[in-house]
Amino acid sequence: MTENNKSDHYTQIIVGSGAAGLTAAIYSSRSALEPVVFEGGMPGGQLTTTSEVENFPGFENGILGPRLMEEMKKQALSFGARFLQKEVERADFSGGSLELTAGGERYIADSVIVATGARPRFLGLEGEKQYLGRGVSTCATCDAFFYRGKKVVVVGGGDSAMEETSYISKFASSVLLVHRRDELRASRIMQDRVLNNPKIKIAWNTVVEEILGSVEKGVEAVRLKNVKTGETVTEPTDGFFLAIGHIPNTEVFKGQLWMDRQGYLLVGEGTATSVPGVFAAGDVVDHRYRQAVTAAGMGCMASLDAEKYLNEKG
Ligand code: NAP
Repeated sequence: MTENNKSDHYTQIIVGSGAAGLTAAIYSSRSALEPVVFEGGMPGGQLTTTSEVENFPGFENGILGPRLMEEMKKQALSFGARFLQKEVERADFSGGSLELTAGGERYIADSVIVATGARPRFLGLEGEKQYLGRGVSTCATCDAFFYRGKKVVVVGGGDSAMEETSYISKFASSVLLVHRRDELRASRIMQDRVLNNPKIKIAWNTVVEEILGSVEKGVEAVRLKNVKTGETVTEPTDGFFLAIGHIPNTEVFKGQLWMDRQGYLLVGEGTATSVPGVFAAGDVVDHRYRQAVTAAGMGCMASLDAEKYLNEKG
């Protein structure tokens, strides 16, 4: 127990506070598992960067993403869940106990629910980091407002890109959607909203080669290349929005939990990961549906799976 003297011991630690983590916290606290939620670097998760959520059941007129997460947290708190503003730096599940290090301190748990979500993908261009927050954005709902009456370029061809492009068009004077292929991946209804919007133009078979700007003004233009013809053009723009998918937040679990080539956690029966007592839920597992409601559903599943595991373990 000498090691344990330096550690806090919990029945359950939930890592992450998005829709999956918070739903797990609601269920686990109602089941008297006394969960502790490590909120991570972005409390509330990705829904805190969206505006109106129209498809979460129970809200006829929609609900703001941050409000929805706030309500979920309050619901978990009301049943006794505890929240720590900590980010997990290290996980060690190798020695028969479930150990996490967060904020330099060690924690031991009887069960862990990983609900760390995913983060936006970048193209890998130098200008992305250089101009992030100065013309480059990964969140239309957070930043579109700043582009009222301005020109904006969005990159991507999935549902996120459609959603963001449509949203930005409410503010910007014009939006150019840049997509690397000649067909969109997005669902028909979301495509149609973009294709029928007179403010939006699409550059097909086109990639972004460079983000151009200056220290004083931030982003000023992007250099685009048509991959079919090889032709390049410089497109003046005030903003550049990335909407090309996400990367799962699983770095700290590398070597500890089985994951696929993209880094998404692999689950077997229900939400069980490769380590007994560790369960996973939400976008950290799911690269297919990625909906608030599916993440919440998985959070519920993970809590029930963890409860069963703990009961069987006695
Ligand atoms: P996604 O479906 O993976 O689409 C990513 C898009 O970015 C694709 O069009 C892809 O091009 C493009 N892309 C990826 N890497 C690129 C690169 N390096 N350079 C240029 N383009 C690149 O991601 P998502 O749009 O974020 O959606 C993820 C999931 O969430 C989907 O299941 C989606 O249905 C769901 N979602 C649903 C809603 C909704 O229903 N309200 C809203 C948002 C997202 P290719 O097509 O050529 O691969």
